[in-house]
Amino acid sequence: MIESRAIERGPKTVKSLLLLATTLTVLGLALPCSWPLAAQTAPTAVVADPPVDKQSPPGLVMFAVPSHGVELDAWLYVASGAGPHGTVILPHGLPGYEMSGDLAQSIRRAGWNVLLFHYRGTWGAGGTFSQSSAIEDTAEVVRFLRDPANAAKYHADPKRIVLIGHSFGGFIAGYEASHDPDIKAVAMIAAVNLGKINADPKEREARLKRWETQLHPVRGATAKQLFAEAERHAKDWDYVQWAEVLRTRPVLLLEADDQNHADMEALSSALREKSAVALEQVAVTTDHSFSDHRIALQSIVIRWLEKLETSGSEARKEHSTRTKVVLLGTGTPVPDPDRSGPATAIIVDDRAYLVDFGPGIVRRAEAAALKREIPAVEPGNLKVAFVTHLHSDHTAGYSDLILGGWTSGRTVPLEVYGPTGLQSMTEHILQAYRIDIETRTNPEGNQRRFPDGSKVNAHEIKPGVVYKDEKITVTAFLTKHAMESYGYRFDTPDRSIVISGDTNPVEETIKACNGCDVLIHEAQPLELLAKMPESVQSFDAKYHTTTAQLAELATRARPKLLVIYHTVSFPPGIAPPRLLQPKAGADALYASPEMLQKEIGSRYLGQFVIGRDLDVY
Ligand SMILES: [Zn+2]
Ligand SMILES: [Zn+2]
Repeated sequence: MIESRAIERGPKTVKSLLLLATTLTVLGLALPCSWPLAAQTAPTAVVADPPVDKQSPPGLVMFAVPSHGVELDAWLYVASGAGPHGTVILPHGLPGYEMSGDLAQSIRRAGWNVLLFHYRGTWGAGGTFSQSSAIEDTAEVVRFLRDPANAAKYHADPKRIVLIGHSFGGFIAGYEASHDPDIKAVAMIAAVNLGKINADPKEREARLKRWETQLHPVRGATAKQLFAEAERHAKDWDYVQWAEVLRTRPVLLLEADDQNHADMEALSSALREKSAVALEQVAVTTDHSFSDHRIALQSIVIRWLEKLETSGSEARKEHSTRTKVVLLGTGTPVPDPDRSGPATAIIVDDRAYLVDFGPGIVRRAEAAALKREIPAVEPGNLKVAFVTHLHSDHTAGYSDLILGGWTSGRTVPLEVYGPTGLQSMTEHILQAYRIDIETRTNPEGNQRRFPDGSKVNAHEIKPGVVYKDEKITVTAFLTKHAMESYGYRFDTPDRSIVISGDTNPVEETIKACNGCDVLIHEAQPLELLAKMPESVQSFDAKYHTTTAQLAELATRARPKLLVIYHTVSFPPGIAPPRLLQPKAGADALYASPEMLQKEIGSRYLGQFVIGRDLDVY
């Protein structure tokens, strides 16, 4: 785990290493490879500086990456040349005595930007440390790199982000890659498997002793606390499980003769079992820090990075960018300022197709247009919408979508599709705003030249294909909620997306997804439901989906990515209404992301995320 210790070489480990036949599997080709047998001359980037580029010289820039109220110290080795460059993030160990600066420099010489940072609560950074917060910090660093302004500033290609981590950093790299489908590739070097550090009492004892002596640069966590935290996450932090989602991407497993060797072997076996498309595994007879094999380490990593550039995965990735999912609102009727009413936009090229129009939709759409640079969701560009059901949390933004879209420049009628009652709702909204519409279209009105923008064509639907144009086919299927309700499947030239709306688990969703690219589904945590009054529990049992049910459903539906949204939750400070007075104390009805993560992660092996407003997938 911690890099600076002297390695204890148990006889068993040494034996297994000697017998180890390493394999190199790249794009389906299995070639024998082990270090140093495969050692050739070191790649140029390891031993020689690149040609001087006066126009775009390399550089070192320092900045702060915001993460959960703390400014993380981060620094970027900028590669030479105009770019855009791919970026390697090098999450460090715990506490991080071996920063792998030599590796960072080689990677930069190979033409990649390299980002290093300190986790919250380490090496003087603000806040306190936990393994979970380090996971969060890493996700924020990725988000920072994807920010178009930062990408432009640092000549970085936000689509080419690779994580390479050693020890605890290897765990972090694997975690981030397995939870973010857009991470291009991951290298785990002598990575600790935090899900297993409590598994063997003897090994636990030995590790704990080491940790206790080496946490000086870490604030806010004792070794015992970190072990207890790992125990709580034992299931979702067992990296062997991540093989399922990592199998489709390039993975480099670089093993040392150390305490993490057996876990790394287990991960590589799991990846092979799942026919990983681009697994490279190399074992090196050296200590945990690769102390006498630093050049070997750099050479292996650089060769692997060079191969990434020539693999076909980039082309596939480019192709998949025509269609995006933008979460405009992931909330419920709870007036959570961080979660707007349910609304999702499916973007194909320059067009947006909405699902539901919860309160806040127009402002969130503008925020997505500005912050995520997606002009298709400018309110004036919103022309087609599908509604899952007529509950107010899904429709209270309807009048704003009609009128706000119109005043923002929509010149054609809004086309809306949904269950019985939609036409009546539409007529009544237009009637309610009669004075506004008349005033805006009278001879002085600002919208008089495009009166059609205030009109709505409301289509009441039945299951089946409900919409088709040259970019998309939309199929509605029946779901089970407190009223007539539909889920939708969207087929675009490059992706398939299914959204559940509010519903009990139904076979139709499984059939509609059936290996789809993205499934967006509601979920209510069991821990929280247990604290709800009986009446709510029985309503939810009929008309909503628990985390356990969703895990089971998603296992059968096999989406490439599961996005969880619409979770009833009262964040700290937001009081539940009297009907919902919880059985246990204040703040008891808060469904934290960790709670969802734990409940889904312990039951579902596929890739999933807890959706947040303005997330783009
Ligand atoms: Zn709802
Ligand atoms: Zn509902």
